[in-house]
Amino acid sequence: MEEKVKCLIIGSGPAGYTAAIYAARADMKPVLYQGLQPGGQLTITTEVENYPGYPKGTMGPEMMEDFKAQAERFGTDIRWGYATSVDFSGAVHKVIIDETTTIFADTVIIATGASAKWLGLESEQRLNGFGVSACAVCDGFFFKKQDVAIVGAGDTAAEEATYLAKLCNKVYMIIRRDEMRASKAMQHRVQNTANIEIIYNSETKEILGEKTVEAVLVYDIKNKVERKLDVTGFFVAIGHQPNTDLFKGILDMDENGYLITIPGTTKTNVGGIFAAGDVADHVYRQAVTAAGTGCMAAIDAERYLAAKGIH
Ligand code: NDP
Repeated sequence: MEEKVKCLIIGSGPAGYTAAIYAARADMKPVLYQGLQPGGQLTITTEVENYPGYPKGTMGPEMMEDFKAQAERFGTDIRWGYATSVDFSGAVHKVIIDETTTIFADTVIIATGASAKWLGLESEQRLNGFGVSACAVCDGFFFKKQDVAIVGAGDTAAEEATYLAKLCNKVYMIIRRDEMRASKAMQHRVQNTANIEIIYNSETKEILGEKTVEAVLVYDIKNKVERKLDVTGFFVAIGHQPNTDLFKGILDMDENGYLITIPGTTKTNVGGIFAAGDVADHVYRQAVTAAGTGCMAAIDAERYLAAKGIH
C-alpha cells in the first residue's frame, strides 16, 4: 500500500500526540503511527502528579488516553504500526511502516522517545510502577520519608539520589564498581549528603515483594556477602536509550544517539524532518517538556509547508 500525506508523526507519547493536536488543528491532516509502545513511557508509570492541569493528579495510562482522544477529536488519523525504514533523501520523504506500507510525507515529526535501560530482573518488571521506577523526579514524591534504593553510578543516578535524599528518609545508592562514573561535582554532592549510603562493588540480585517493593537483595562482589535492604522504592538509573536506530547515518545525532536539533527549534539537519520529545532530549525528559516540543514541531512543520507553498 502507498499513500501520500502532508504530515506524518511517528510516536505516541506526549510529544507525538501534542504535535498531532496542533497539526490537526492547523489542517495538516496528520497521520500518526503509535509504535511499539502506544502511549509511550507514561503507560508504564502509575500516578502522574506533576503535569499541569491535573490538580488532583492522574494515572499515566489514562493521561495518554486523554492525549489520544484530544488528538482524535481534531481529526488525527491514529494507527497501529511501527516505522521499519526511512528514506529522507528526496523532496518528499518516505517512511515504511511494518515493512509493508509506504507513506510519502512532506513533513515527518519524529517523536519516538527514549527507553529506560533496565537491569533485566523478573521482579523488576513485575513490580514496575509498584515501587520500581526509572524516574526519581516523576515518582520520588510517593516515597516521602521512606527508605529507597537507587542503582546506577552516572550523572543521572547521582542527581536522582540527591533529589530523593531531600524527600526520603534514607537512600541507598547501589554501584557495581568501586567508583562512580558521575562527574566529580556530582560525586561530591552525593558523598556529602548525610542520608545517602553508597554501596560499592555490589549488584542487585532481586527485588522482594508480592504486590509492592518490600526489600532489595544486593550482593557484594568483593566480599562475597549478600545484604537485604529494607526499602519501599527501587529506582533504576542506568541510562536511557533513544529510539533512533532507524535514523543512523541519516540524521545528525550525538554520541549517545539522541537526535540533534537546531537550538530553539525542532528542525533536524534534513528539511521537513522535525524531532520532538525525549528522542532529542536527554536533559529534561519530562512529559510536559515533551509536549512542549511536540507543539513546536507541529508549528515548525506548518511553517515549512507554508514556505514550500504546500497547501
Ligand atoms: P551513564 O551511561 O552515564 O551511566 C550509566 C550508569 O549506570 C553507569 O555508572 C553504569 O555503571 C551503570 N550501569 C549500567 N548498566 C548497569 C547494570 N546492569 N547494573 C548496574 N549499573 C549499571 O548514564 P546517565 O543516564 O547517568 O547519563 C547519560 C548522559 O547524560 C551522560 O553523558 C551524563 O553525563 C549526562 N547527564 C548529565 C547531567 C548533568 O550534567 N546534569 C545529568 C544527567 C545526565 P558503570 O559506571 O560501571 O559502567
